[in-house]
Amino acid sequence: RAKTQQRSGHYYFSRSMGVEIRERVRMMHALRKAFGQNELFVVYQPQIDLETRRPKGAEALLRWQTPDGKFVSPDRFIPIAEYSGLIIDLGEWVLRTACRELVTLHKAGHSDFMMSINVSQVQFRHPYFLEMLRKALEDTGAPPEFVELEITESMAMEEPDLLIKMLAQIKQTGVSIAIDDFGTGFSSLSYLQRLQIDRLKIDRAFVTEITGSARGSSIAEMVVQLGRNLGLSVIAEGVEDERQAQILHALGCPLAQGFLFARPMTADALNGWLSNEALQGAA
Ligand code: C2E
Ligand code: MG
Ligand code: MG
Ligand code: MG
Repeated sequence: RAKTQQRSGHYYFSRSMGVEIRERVRMMHALRKAFGQNELFVVYQPQIDLETRRPKGAEALLRWQTPDGKFVSPDRFIPIAEYSGLIIDLGEWVLRTACRELVTLHKAGHSDFMMSINVSQVQFRHPYFLEMLRKALEDTGAPPEFVELEITESMAMEEPDLLIKMLAQIKQTGVSIAIDDFGTGFSSLSYLQRLQIDRLKIDRAFVTEITGSARGSSIAEMVVQLGRNLGLSVIAEGVEDERQAQILHALGCPLAQGFLFARPMTADALNGWLSNEALQGAA
């Protein structure tokens, strides 16, 4: 347990905290090495139109599989990548990889397909973020109007003026912006209105709640209404069962993503999955 203890006015690291820090430093080195040795890869989770049940796009998600076959969760290693600064290179690599996959999919005939990419606040605050984005789009040939960046709501709440300015500049490249994990922070309506965003992503916690209690769908419903009032698209994340999908559709939520439709998959698997979907759609 990481915890400081106080004795006669001095703070010192408890032994358990020493272990915690050592573990983080160990993981930091391991992650850097893993990145250099191509142990990291990107998977893609389809995003579905709830009306037609057809795929509209995918979210790129980073994976780390260690040589002994174990997966380390991004919830564990992304904070370490942020803390160590590695996220700058790692994030650029994810962006370029996902952009290249988007181009591949468009060439394969999935011409309206969208790609959503998570962006860390550390990347976002980096002075060359905008330049990096422009260059990645240019080098990969990814059409910006099919690229969406996901930023979290908690991040949207810090330094409002900087964010407003950044978003305006990012929008000029032609990419769109989604607020991820929406509903977990407390962004005010007036603030949201000042942000040049395109989509709200309902956090999984509120999707799970939908079938949990009588008034379980109230937050999801509120986000859908909010999206409608502000003229924003809405997508629900973490849809695991059919009832959740039906309630979301009834609430007017246009898009969803979750294990019900598809798990995150490798690029090859996605190409196959999409071709199969296209065949079924044509039948
Ligand atoms: P997120 O962006 O909110 O991504 C959604 C997470 O929910 C993913 O977890 C996804 O695999 C998982 N998920 C999708 N559908 C379902 C479902 O039906 N049920 C459940 N229980 N889970 C579902 P994952 O891949 O472990 O990623 C966790 C978080 O790590 C992401 O949350 C995102 O914040 C971060 N992350 C992942 N890849 C990247 C990346 O390339 N860059 C950055 N900055 N962050 C990333
Ligand atoms: Mg996301
Ligand atoms: Mg999310
Ligand atoms: Mg989430």
